[in-house]
Amino acid sequence: MVLIVGGAGYIGSHTVKELHKKGHEILVLDNLVHGHKEFLKWGKFVNADLENIKQLRSIFKKYPITSVMHFASYINVGESVTDPKKYYINNVTNTLNLLNVMIEYSVRHFIFSSTCATYGTPVSIPIDENHPQNPINPYGQSKLMIEKIIEDYSNAYDFSYVSLRYFNASGADQDGEIGEWHNPETHLIPIVLDAAINKRDSIEIYGTDYDTPDGTCIRDYIHVTDLADAHIKALEFLESGEKSTAFNIGTENGYTVREIIEKTIEITKREIKVVETGRREGDATTLISKSTKIKDTLKWEPQHSSLNEIIQSAWNWHKKLNKIE
Ligand code: UDP
Repeated sequence: MVLIVGGAGYIGSHTVKELHKKGHEILVLDNLVHGHKEFLKWGKFVNADLENIKQLRSIFKKYPITSVMHFASYINVGESVTDPKKYYINNVTNTLNLLNVMIEYSVRHFIFSSTCATYGTPVSIPIDENHPQNPINPYGQSKLMIEKIIEDYSNAYDFSYVSLRYFNASGADQDGEIGEWHNPETHLIPIVLDAAINKRDSIEIYGTDYDTPDGTCIRDYIHVTDLADAHIKALEFLESGEKSTAFNIGTENGYTVREIIEKTIEITKREIKVVETGRREGDATTLISKSTKIKDTLKWEPQHSSLNEIIQSAWNWHKKLNKIE
C-alpha cells in the first residue's frame, strides 16, 4: 500500500489519480487545511496531522504501508520569509515525525516533493542536479534540509528514496476532475485566469527590468499530470531495487511572464488587464531545468507540457471551479 501524505492537495491528488489508474492500493493522509475533501476520489482516506505522532503510529500499525509519497508542505516563498517558524515546523519538524514513524514500521521507499528553489540563484542555466544548492529563502531551505535528512536516514536505516525537484507545476487534470485550487492563490497561471474572469481587476507583473528578451522572469512550466507520472516511475524505480537519488522534473523550456499572459489571452479569448509593478523579493531571473537524468533513468518524458495544453487544461478547470460557462 502507498501512503500519500498531502494527497488532497494539488500535485498529491493528481498523483493519487494516476496511482489509482495503475492499480496501486492507496491511502491518502491529509489534514484538509489546504487539501480539499472534493479531491478525495480514489483510495482510502485518513484525516490526520503529521504533528500527532501517536496518530501516525496508529495509522502505520493499521495499514500495510510499504511506500510513502510526501507532498504535504507549505509552499509560499514570501510567507516563508515573514513567518519562517511556520515553514520549519511544518516542512521540517513534521516531516521528521513522518520519517521517524516510517522507519519504526520498516517502510521501504520514500518519495519526496522537493523543489528547484533548493538551488537558489542559478549560477548556470539550464540547472542540472549537480548545480550547487544554496536556497535563498526559508521555503527552499526547509526542502533542502529534508533532502539532507533523508540522505542520512537512508544511509543509516533500511529504506530508499527519490527526491523530485519540481520546476513550476501547472495545468490541470485532462478530465477536469481536479486542478489547482489554492487559497490564497499566489501562482502566476491561476492568477492570470482570475484576471480573465474578472475575479481580480488585473494581473500584476512583478518586474519588467530583468535581463530576459521582454524584461520579465522566465520559468519552466511542467504539467501536473507529467509530475504525477514521474512519481509513479520513481516508485517503480525504487521497487525494482534501484539506488536512492534526486531528479529534476521540468520541460527544459522556459516562458516569460508576458508569454504566459499572451497565451492565456489567446486561449481564453478574454481581455486581461496588466499592471506592471516592481520586482518580487526572492525571484530569480530565469529558472530552466536540465531534466536528462530523469529522462534517461526513468524513461520519463513530458506528455502534456506544451504551453497550449498547460493553459487550456488550467482554463477548463478554472471555469469549472468558478462555475463559469
Ligand atoms: N508572477 C507575476 N505576477 C503574479 C504572480 C507571479 O509576475 O501575480 C511572476 C513571478 O514573479 C515569477 C513567475 O510569475 O517570475 C512565476 O511565479 P509563481 O509564483 O507562479 O512561481 P515561482 O516561480 O515563484 O515558484
